[in-house]
Amino acid sequence: MRVCLALLLIVLCVQSFCPVMQQTVSATGPTVQPLVDDVEDSDAYFRKASTRRASRKSFSREISTMVGKMTLEEKVGQMTQLEIGMITKGDGDNIQIDPEKLEKAVVKYGAGSILNVKDQALTVDKWHEIIKAIQEASQRTRLKIPVIYGIDSIHGANYIQGSTLFPQEIGMAATWNPALMQRGAEVAAIETRAAGIPWTFSPVLDLGRQPLWPRFWETFGEDPYLATVMGVAFVRGVEGDDVSSSQHVASSLKHYVGYSFPLTGRDRTPAWIPENYMREYFLPPFAAAVKAGARTVMVNSAEVNGVPGHINHHLLTEVLRKELGFDGFVVSDWQDIKKLVTEWHVAADEKEATRLSVMAGIDMSMVPSDYSFSDLLIQLVKENKVPMARIDEAVSRILLVKYELGLFERPGPDTSLKSAFGTSASRAVALDAARESLVLLKNENSVLPLSKERKILVTGPTADTMVSLNNGWTYTWQGDKPALYPKDRHTVLGAIKAVAGSNVTHVPGVAFDKEIDVEAAVRAAQTSDVVVACIGEPSYTETPGNITDLTLSEPQLKLVERLQATGKPVVLVLVEGRPRVINRVADGAKGILLALNPGNEGGTAIADVLFGSYNPNGKLPFNYPRTPNGLIAYDHKLFETEVTAYGNTAFSPQFPFGTGLSYTSFGYSDLKVTPESVKVNGDVKVSVTVTNKGSRAGKEAVIVFVRDVVASLSPPGKRVRRFAKISLDAGQSRTLNFSIRTEELSFIGLNNKPILEPGDFEVMVGGLTGKFKLQ
Ligand code: BGC
Repeated sequence: MRVCLALLLIVLCVQSFCPVMQQTVSATGPTVQPLVDDVEDSDAYFRKASTRRASRKSFSREISTMVGKMTLEEKVGQMTQLEIGMITKGDGDNIQIDPEKLEKAVVKYGAGSILNVKDQALTVDKWHEIIKAIQEASQRTRLKIPVIYGIDSIHGANYIQGSTLFPQEIGMAATWNPALMQRGAEVAAIETRAAGIPWTFSPVLDLGRQPLWPRFWETFGEDPYLATVMGVAFVRGVEGDDVSSSQHVASSLKHYVGYSFPLTGRDRTPAWIPENYMREYFLPPFAAAVKAGARTVMVNSAEVNGVPGHINHHLLTEVLRKELGFDGFVVSDWQDIKKLVTEWHVAADEKEATRLSVMAGIDMSMVPSDYSFSDLLIQLVKENKVPMARIDEAVSRILLVKYELGLFERPGPDTSLKSAFGTSASRAVALDAARESLVLLKNENSVLPLSKERKILVTGPTADTMVSLNNGWTYTWQGDKPALYPKDRHTVLGAIKAVAGSNVTHVPGVAFDKEIDVEAAVRAAQTSDVVVACIGEPSYTETPGNITDLTLSEPQLKLVERLQATGKPVVLVLVEGRPRVINRVADGAKGILLALNPGNEGGTAIADVLFGSYNPNGKLPFNYPRTPNGLIAYDHKLFETEVTAYGNTAFSPQFPFGTGLSYTSFGYSDLKVTPESVKVNGDVKVSVTVTNKGSRAGKEAVIVFVRDVVASLSPPGKRVRRFAKISLDAGQSRTLNFSIRTEELSFIGLNNKPILEPGDFEVMVGGLTGKFKLQ
C-alpha cells in the first residue's frame, strides 16, 4: 500500500511540476515529440523584470516638509559624499571610528553619504560597528536625516569578509541566463544589507566593446541587447519589489554613459560617440534599467565628444531625466568634480567646476576626501550662481531614496540579518553561476573530459591563485591581496587535485610576466599524459589595468609553446578578464576552456568541467580577437570583414561571439519565420527546434540574430534580438517560439530618432537562416 501511494505521488509530481518529463524522451531522435514553448525567453524575462515597481509609495509630502525645514548648509550637506577615511582612523582590520572626524563630517557638515572601504573588506561585525556609529551621529543632527552608506558590491558583497562571490559581470554574461543573474544579485543585496549597507555602486552597464579597456570584465560584453537584459536582471535582483526590505538595497547604474569606449583603450580617456550610435548601442541598457526602477546613477568619469561626463547637461538632464524619466539621484564618480579642473581643463577652478556639474545634473558629489564641495556650493548659492531650486531638486531626490530605503525608520544595521550572510544556499548559487559562466572554446578529438586516472601536469601562473579567478573589486580595490581570500575554496590546482589526487603534478613554469623554470615544466610534461596550462591575467581594474598590447605575455606563450613541442596534449585554461591574444598557441592546443573571472567557486567549477562532472554551456559574449589589432565586434558591418577588390584584408576573430561547446551536441531544425510579410506594429514569429543529439544532458543558449538587409544607414551584419537558455536531456527536442516586435527592428537615424524601414530581413539561429519582409 505504502509503495502504491509513493508511486502515485511520484506520478502526480511528475505530471504537475515537471513538464519536461511528460515528453517521450528517447535517444533515437526522430520519434521524440518536441516540447513546445514553455521556455521563458529573454523577452518574456525582460518584460516581466522591467516593469517599474507599480506599488512604489510616494513620499512627496514627507520630502517637501523636510526640505522646507532645511537650511542651505543642511541641504548641501545632503549632496556631499565622503570616503570612510574622513570618519575613521587606523588601517586594514584595525580601522576605528574617529569620534572627532565623525562629528565634523556627519554632525557639523551634515554629510548625506559615506562610501567605500579604507584598504580592505571588513567583517560584518565591524561594518555594524561603523554603520551604527555613523547613524547615531546622524541622529544627533537637527533633522535626524540618516546617512546613506554606499559600497561597491560588484560581484557579490565583495567588501565584506566571508561574502558569497560570483563571477564578474563578463562571466555572468557568458551564462546567457538572466534568471541566474537576478538570483546572484539577490544574494549580493541580502549580504550587503546584512552588513547594514543599503546602497551598492552596481551594475556596470557600460558596453564591453573595447577589450583593451581595463574594466572590460566589469561589463556584460559587447552586445547591447544581452547587456540590457542582464542589466535589468541585476537591478531586479538588487532592488526587488520593495527596496526598503532587509533583502534589498539601492542600485547605481554606472557609468552613465559612454565610458567604456575610449579610443586608446586606456581608462578615463576620450571617447568619440556620435549621438545616434550613443542611442543605438550605449544608452539602451541604462534606459531599460531606469525603467526597471533603478534608484541611482553614477556618472561617466571620462569624456564623450569632448564633453566630460560630469558637465554633460544634455545627457544628465535632457536625456536621463526628461526622456528616460529617471527620478532617483545622480552621484558623481570619485573626485570627478575636482578633475574637471585638474584633468579635463574645462573649468579654471573648483568653484566653477562645482557650478558646472551641479547645473548639469549632479545631485551628489563623491568629493570624497575634503569639504571643498560643500563650502563652494554654499558660496555659489549665496552668490546666486546656483539657484536654490536646483539644490532643492537634488536634495529631494536624495531624500526620496532614503525614504524608499526605509532609512528614516531603521537607520542602523539589523544584527539579526547576520544569519542570512554567507549561507551554503548562496554559495550553491555562486557555484551554479561559476559553472554556467565557463566557455569551452575548443575540444579537439574530445581531449576533454579528462580521466582522473591519467597523469596530469598542472602549470602556469593562474593555476594556484584565487586572485585571477576573481579579479578586481575583491576584498580590495585591485583584488590583489591573496591573504584576504578564503582558505577553504579551491584554486584550479586545488580542485584538480581534489579529483585526481596523486596523479597530479604541479610545476608553475612561469609567473605572469617572467619565467620561473620553463624547463622544469617541460620535463614534467614528458612524464605526464596530459598538460593543463592555466594562463591569463592577474587582477586589475581602472587605470592600474591599462595595457598597450592585448597579446598574452611572452613568458606564458613561451611556456605553452615549449609544452606543445613535447607532443603531449595541452589543454589551456584561460583565466582572464579580457580576451588576451593567444594565436601562437591556440592551434596547437587540444582543448581551451575560458574562465572569465568566475569567482571563489571558479576553481571547483573549472575542475567539474575538466573532468566532465559538469557539462559546459557558457557562450562568448564578445568576439575573441585573433590579433591585437583585429578588434571587431560581432555586429560589425559585413563589408568590414570582406576581402575587397581593393585588397582590404579580412580579419576573423579567434573565436566568434556566441562560441561555446558542450560535451553533447545540439542540432537545430525547422526554423520557421512567419508571416512572410509583416506589417509595421506586427510581430515576427520565429520558431526553431533544438535537439540534443548526444548522449548526455546539457544546456544550450539559443541565440536569435536578425539582419536588416538594406538600410539607409549601413546596417550591421547581424544583431542579437532574442535568446533563451534551455536544458535538454540526451535525445530530447524542444521547439522554441520567439516573437519579435517590429519596432525592435528599427535603428537610430541621423536625427537621433528610431527609424523603421520596410524591406527584407534575415533571421539566423544555430546555422539556419530564414527571412521575412517588413511592409
Ligand atoms: C570607480 C567607480 C566606483 C567608485 C567608488 C571609482 O574609481 O570608477 O566605479 O564605484 O570609484 O569606489
